[in-house]
Amino acid sequence: MARIRILGLLRLLFVLFVLALIVLSGVMLYKTFRYKSRQLQVAPAADVSIDANAAAEHLAQAVRFQTVSYSDPAQFKSDEFTNLRSFLEQTYPRTHATLAHETVANYSLLYKWTGQDQSLKPILLMGHIDVVPVEPGTESQWTYPPFEGRIADGFVWGRGAMDDKAAVVGLLEAVEQLLREGYQPKRTVYLAFGHDEELGGPAGAAAIAELLHARGVEPEYVLDEGGAITDGILKGISRPVAVLGTAEKGFVSVELTVEGTGGHSSAPPPQTAIGILSGATSRLEAEQMPAAFKGVTQEMFDRVGPEMNFLPRMALANLWLTRPLVVRQLTAQRETNALLRTTTAATIFEGGVKDNVLPSRARAVVNFRILPGDSVDSVLEHVRRTINDPRVQIAPLKGTAMSEPSPVASTDALGFRVLERTIRESFPTVAVTPSLVIGATDSRHYTKVCPNVYRFAPLWLRVGDIERIHGTNERLSVENFAQIVKFYRQLIRNSDS
Ligand SMILES: [Zn+2]
Repeated sequence: MARIRILGLLRLLFVLFVLALIVLSGVMLYKTFRYKSRQLQVAPAADVSIDANAAAEHLAQAVRFQTVSYSDPAQFKSDEFTNLRSFLEQTYPRTHATLAHETVANYSLLYKWTGQDQSLKPILLMGHIDVVPVEPGTESQWTYPPFEGRIADGFVWGRGAMDDKAAVVGLLEAVEQLLREGYQPKRTVYLAFGHDEELGGPAGAAAIAELLHARGVEPEYVLDEGGAITDGILKGISRPVAVLGTAEKGFVSVELTVEGTGGHSSAPPPQTAIGILSGATSRLEAEQMPAAFKGVTQEMFDRVGPEMNFLPRMALANLWLTRPLVVRQLTAQRETNALLRTTTAATIFEGGVKDNVLPSRARAVVNFRILPGDSVDSVLEHVRRTINDPRVQIAPLKGTAMSEPSPVASTDALGFRVLERTIRESFPTVAVTPSLVIGATDSRHYTKVCPNVYRFAPLWLRVGDIERIHGTNERLSVENFAQIVKFYRQLIRNSDS
């Protein structure tokens, strides 16, 4: 009798469980189907004919100037920068005849194309003319030498072909073409090309931003590099995605030092300076700053979620249930982890001189990339609290740039709307999303003249292409460069309407 009653109860529980599962999956499916695309619907841009080969030839020529930013200032080759400037003057005669242009901090370039309607705020389009060095020893791995500016196999090869001469030459091509067609912008257009972006822009971009600030220039929006079109790179989505940076992370390196007793190692204390320091760094790795699915990152997944494949789409459509799981998935991968939290990276560890001598000092540097919402101060506070050991001295590393996370640019402002529209018109298969840039760009210098700084260039990046930027075999397809020129052309026109 009792057995039968228990069996009945079990059966009832099972039925209830199945019913709950059916209801739950029904709700999840309903939410998934209601989770609609938020992509702007626009007609593709009318195709304008441009001479793709001539444009690519100009990019290839620009690559030949070795405008390298070295960390050792003695290696700076000023001739390469002035020769590139002369080349641009010769190649874009209309631009240089019509636009006011000046050099800032000797080598950076600033252009002003005065618009017809002075009541409209100007726009500012950025690029940088310097490039990173080719890592010594890797020269022979290049299919074509990095500064030969070769066009082969449908690509322009060489250092700077993507980062960032594609933007500089692409913008000038677009302006020259618009001038050839007799176009006069309503809104003033500034072009600003820094010469030391790869060193953090302390001379170039900083001086241009300062100059514009002094002149009272307040752009409607600023566009710099930082985001691109990713194709097959983001997991869980088959269509290409244009990641349009609306914010970038801050940067601080923290130096940890431990003073030891020194002396002979035959009668050591329980912990040497090295042991104390390694305890401190491993505590920082074990106790990372908290991850949160919020802000720009949440906005990014809100936009991209409806475009994703079924399972990730269902997970993102049902965050009321799946949030902890989604956060766990995203933090498990380093690329997405960096979007969710201030990251911790121990990058330098030094101490000790001889095997039988106690170290008198040990030193480590830990680099943090700061999420909007956190700050340099909150990072330092986290480091102190986590290490919690008075024997470890903690201070920001001297001599390196430190920056707070950027303000977050609006997705409702004209700049975002014009960029979104221009991307969708120029690349109809591409989904657009705001995103967080995890590296640092020159554009952070401009947040003092404009709250709406966006970071995007329409480089079409496939798997393996990100490594070419700053790496070996940097190249850009002739086709992609023509798209870039057309994109900037359309962007300048759209900014007027
Ligand atoms: Zn760059």
